[in-house]
Amino acid sequence: MSKSKVLLIYTGGTIGMMQDPKSGQLKPFDFKHLTEQIPELNKFDVTLSSVSFDKPIDSSDMHPGIWSDIASIIKKNYDKVDGFVVLHGSDTMSFTASALSFMLQNLNKPVILTGSQLPIGVIRTDGKENLITAIEIAAAKEKGKPVISEVCIYFEFQLYRGNRTHKFNAEHFQAFRSANYPVLAEAGVHLKYNQAAIKKHNAKKLKVHTNLDPNIAILKLFPGITQNVVEAIINAKGLKAIVIETFGSGNATTQKWFLEAIKKAIEKGIVILNVTQCNAGKVEQGKYATSAALKKIGVIGSYDITSEAAVAKLMFVLGNTSDKKEIEKMLKSDLRGEMTV
Ligand code: ASP
Repeated sequence: MSKSKVLLIYTGGTIGMMQDPKSGQLKPFDFKHLTEQIPELNKFDVTLSSVSFDKPIDSSDMHPGIWSDIASIIKKNYDKVDGFVVLHGSDTMSFTASALSFMLQNLNKPVILTGSQLPIGVIRTDGKENLITAIEIAAAKEKGKPVISEVCIYFEFQLYRGNRTHKFNAEHFQAFRSANYPVLAEAGVHLKYNQAAIKKHNAKKLKVHTNLDPNIAILKLFPGITQNVVEAIINAKGLKAIVIETFGSGNATTQKWFLEAIKKAIEKGIVILNVTQCNAGKVEQGKYATSAALKKIGVIGSYDITSEAAVAKLMFVLGNTSDKKEIEKMLKSDLRGEMTV
């Protein structure tokens, strides 16, 4: 059997960073530095190739333009390799994984994002294991078909569906959580795949969407939020959609000014998506009186989607259609396993 081929796409992040001797700050470094630190890569029974962004970045500088570049690299190499590993900072990894999941329609090969909390040059780094196992997963096949055919994050012995994740810890090696969807695999002595949770492989042809519309906002509610703040966001120039992060199962203040402001926004054509502030559980508009009004005025309930996936989904949907009915239909549907409807 021929060796699996995996393409590494290096965008930056702590995994490849080095300490600046003058300032002591961590700064992204080139790909060569990274691979030199992991001689194990040469022992792999996998044919590795790589693409590196000219200027590796801290993922806080990530933006939709780079998401499009990553998606285009995947498109260009889709028929040449068996899987992809995207090296990326952990800070915004969940946003990138979510965005890629929407952009890569009918994906049938593994796209595994990984990174680390400590740079690869540091003795206790978590980067080596993360990278080596991510490559193993990207190369894994069964009966000639890839074991994984979706966008995932591999971090600290766990493989997650990318658009279900959230970075919840800035310090622990276990930085991600997928509260509303089971892990897809666990790495111990063996790599144990959770077949029931993994997306099934199919024969559909990949379709890559690189148009994203970033004219959206997140409005996180809190007791005491003022009318001025809410209206300032709603009236932002060019705004097309808002994710409102509500309390509990989708609840919000019932103050008249608030409901009127949201109603006016919807009448102006702004899409309002209701996502819970809770890490686990789902929005159920109408369960409480404090969410029934939102449903009545046309706020779209987003079930158990994460805020990260909601942001990416809105950018994707708005970047691909301006038809109101279609937008609503797409937002209410589970497009890439991002929510349980
Ligand atoms: N600030 C870094 C980044 O997101 C953190 C990391 O890589 O974990 O690029």
